[in-house]
Amino acid sequence: MDGHPEALIDLGAVKDNVGALARHVGGAQVMAVVKADGYGHGMIPVANAALAGGATWLGVVHVGEALALRQAGLTARVLCLLGAPDAPHEEAIRQDIDLSAGSAELVGQIAAAAERAGRPARVHLKADTGMSRGGATAADWPGLVHAALAAEAAGRVRVAGLWSHMASADIPGHPSIAAQLAAFQAAVHVAEQAGARPEVRHLANTPATVTLPETWYDMIRPGGGIVGLCTLPGGAPGWLRPAMTVKAVLVQAKRVPAGTGVSYGHRYVTEREATLGLVPLGYAEGIPRQATNTAQVLVRGRRWTISGTVCMNQVIVDFGDEPVAPGDEVVLFGPGDAGEPTAQEWADALGTLSYDIVTRFAGRVPRSYRGVTEATEPVPVVASVDAAVSGAVRRLQES
Ligand SMILES: *Cc1c(COP(=O)(O)O)cnc(C)c1O
Repeated sequence: MDGHPEALIDLGAVKDNVGALARHVGGAQVMAVVKADGYGHGMIPVANAALAGGATWLGVVHVGEALALRQAGLTARVLCLLGAPDAPHEEAIRQDIDLSAGSAELVGQIAAAAERAGRPARVHLKADTGMSRGGATAADWPGLVHAALAAEAAGRVRVAGLWSHMASADIPGHPSIAAQLAAFQAAVHVAEQAGARPEVRHLANTPATVTLPETWYDMIRPGGGIVGLCTLPGGAPGWLRPAMTVKAVLVQAKRVPAGTGVSYGHRYVTEREATLGLVPLGYAEGIPRQATNTAQVLVRGRRWTISGTVCMNQVIVDFGDEPVAPGDEVVLFGPGDAGEPTAQEWADALGTLSYDIVTRFAGRVPRSYRGVTEATEPVPVVASVDAAVSGAVRRLQES
């Protein structure tokens, strides 16, 4: 692509973030949630870096994603977070992938698939403790538990986990937090009284991991946190490092007089004679159209606001009298080290989440990877496709 648009992924940051999260929670295991293509950072490389950082589980939404992890050679425990009746359960069971069930009916379907596969299915029973998304309500929970334990007694299912998900862990003090904690405690009690012996009980997403020790149980499930992001007000704590930098280079710079209308609709007009720079990234590459006249970029060590309407593949910036030239680097967002905006700042400016910013660029801008840094041996910058990176990280893990 001309203008070198690029999403640079710092896998060393991913590895370090997992280590920092693990230290933060003491003894709990870490399930690295790598759904949505690793939050737009690349599922396989992020998974490998997370495992190198000490994660022992991986979390995805769909069975297809879990199978892709297995196909890439990853042997860690994998949980599919979404329980769906029409998922390829039999193949998942054959590939030693853990499944979630939030209803007795789904346990029945999974048990039938286990019979066909010729081995027990590993199942995590999901309680709806107040999110009202997946999972069994308090009223349906005993029925789910008994169906699962009956299937366990019949050798078709192993109840490997009990879990739930927080609705408002990123709204400190929200009354649903205490209510969900109490509901989860009650659900675990009911299941264990009935004879469930789960390996892991898990509840905490990134904001809960950061702020709510009562949610940690046996395992945390950070997704945003492993790529250095968090949905808490103000974003992630300083001990997490954003892993994605999106940048390009200017493809044109030109002088225009005062009063020049810029981009579609002339929603920006130059106040004085100015140099306009052309950035080869637009809404088709992931820049939200709401960034019009709002979001900032870093060029020549200074921040500049996007001037006028975000086009499909381009935006324009008024650089005043700054001597910009084609080839100058334009950083949309990154970890913030050089003064560039962070994805969190973009999100705050646009009224959304940092997750919404970073996932937009997946598959639309070429990704490159900076390798995992082992204790003493720095790894050179690797610019390559995901497969090569995952191989390199695997070799590092094995060495
Ligand atoms: C996405 C997700 C997570 C991770 O949430 P983060 O806020 O990104 O840490 C954990 N558990 C479930 C069920 C999820 O859907």
